Amino acid sequence: MKANSQQQETLLDLSRIDLQLRRNQKLINEINEAAAVQAARQQLLVNSESLLAVRNRLDELSLELGRAEVDLNLVEGRIERDQARLQQSSNQKDIQGIQSELQSLQKRKGELEEAEIVLLERQDELNRELAAVQNERDGLQKRLTVLEDEQTSGLAKLNSGQQLLREDRARGLGQLSAELAEHYEKLFAKSIGVGRLDGLICDACGMTLSGDSIDAIKNTPVDELAHCGECGAILVR
Ligand SMILES: [Zn+2]
Repeated sequence: MKANSQQQETLLDLSRIDLQLRRNQKLINEINEAAAVQAARQQLLVNSESLLAVRNRLDELSLELGRAEVDLNLVEGRIERDQARLQQSSNQKDIQGIQSELQSLQKRKGELEEAEIVLLERQDELNRELAAVQNERDGLQKRLTVLEDEQTSGLAKLNSGQQLLREDRARGLGQLSAELAEHYEKLFAKSIGVGRLDGLICDACGMTLSGDSIDAIKNTPVDELAHCGECGAILVR
């Protein structure tokens, strides 16, 4: 197939452009899949569940504390009333009865106060846990924002690069005859490119060509297309 040296250089350019387009497309696909972004979203989801669980436990604890407070107030009220009765009473039997009741009320009061302390300690612990989960959440959200921004700007850069490469490609194809353009497209569709002959080496496949292949290339007129005997690439001399 006829191709002057200018057209052969254009074929080489086209092949480089197409390889770059493919590499960029691979990067675009990777950025779109964005494993890191998906992992960060997943971590945030797990964190949301932890946050909800800690908040629920704090709500339950707050109800328990409320109930403990009511119980304690009741016991304290009864103690006050019993003490007043004790002041007023002169009947020995009554006094004994009230004293015995006061004893068990004080014991009950002590138990309720201890239980309240345990609940308050648990509340402190949960509040620290809540702060840690919220802190982690802030970090995860910041990280996700950075990753999403990188994703957006990376894609924008690559997509505008692709646009320029496609324009170059169309311009290159426009400089070829219809026959040459079709030949190139057919080869490229089969992942066969265009290489330069570098001594005895085809730089499309990196193979050293056999003596027969070299002879065949030497016998091909310079304005005809030569092909690599190893990979089938168009060889520009
Ligand atoms: Zn080759």
